[in-house]
Amino acid sequence: MPINWFPGHMNSTRQAIKDRVKAGLDVVIELLDARLPGSSANPLLAALTTGRPSLKVLNKQDLADPPITGDWLDHYNAQPHTRAIGLDAGDKAPARALIKACRELAPLRGDMHKPLRVLICGIPNVGKSTLINTLVGKRATKTGDEPGITKIEQKIVLENGFYLFDTPGMLWPRIAIEQSGYHLAASGAIGRNAFDEDEVALELIATLKRRYPERLQERYGLAKLDERTPDDAVLEAIGLKRGAKVRGGGVQMHKAAEALLVDFRGGSLGRITLETPEEMTAWRQAAADAEAQKALALEAARLAEKEKRSGKRQSASGDA
Ligand code: GDP
Repeated sequence: MPINWFPGHMNSTRQAIKDRVKAGLDVVIELLDARLPGSSANPLLAALTTGRPSLKVLNKQDLADPPITGDWLDHYNAQPHTRAIGLDAGDKAPARALIKACRELAPLRGDMHKPLRVLICGIPNVGKSTLINTLVGKRATKTGDEPGITKIEQKIVLENGFYLFDTPGMLWPRIAIEQSGYHLAASGAIGRNAFDEDEVALELIATLKRRYPERLQERYGLAKLDERTPDDAVLEAIGLKRGAKVRGGGVQMHKAAEALLVDFRGGSLGRITLETPEEMTAWRQAAADAEAQKALALEAARLAEKEKRSGKRQSASGDA
């Protein structure tokens, strides 16, 4: 899916993370969207933070499918120097779980002399401002529905010897896995002008049809629905149900797409997770294979061009 974003502050955030590593960093908290715990993970973060211990927080777990959240927690907890916990805005005291997990990851730090320095990162709209507001206990950062509201870095003292450094929500320059692009767009992480909502809605329908057909049926009163029902027919039915009709009887497909995305983001379709660890591993492998194929093809073309040129040179010297 082509994404036409201009992630303006990406470079400054990247620099802020590098500066933090230099100034001292013990643990990196990555806030993930529990509905897309693989796609919302920054593939550049480990390199940027030079492999510091990592706490993955699967946020908005109230919107995600609990058994799949469990699978993802197991998946991340099995990785070296990594802990994973689930969280949502309904948790009134998230600091306890966060501090405990960070202390386990960096047991030698965390007193007045050696404070535990923790960086918190995440994609736009993952709920970072909301979490930080709860942690701080007052409205210290602005929250909002549009991605990219948090702009400045902050230091938050969570308790004696425990510093939390906040960075602006960050995406990465290129999303190599196509499915991840769709999932990020569906979640609301990508600004709405940067992608085609109709295309994202149709992909979302394809996933929901496969994984949660009964939710589509219940919410939109679809009598019959199976894998063979065309995605655009489902979108049309959604439009009819959600008031996206035009005069004369047709459906405004774009309005239907918007309605579906609003329903998904707000949890009106129930608790949904778009991807499993196994799927993500397979997609990552397929993307890496495709990259390798592309590199091979480029190299082959380069060699062929070189041979052609040297052949021309030889025949030119033979002619002489
Ligand atoms: P940020 O861009 O990462 O700072 O995200 P915000 O904190 O501004 O949150 C983005 C949207 O997600 C807001 O509408 C929040 O109310 C909502 N939100 C944040 N945390 C949660 C959560 O745990 N569960 C649900 N359902 N919504 C959340």
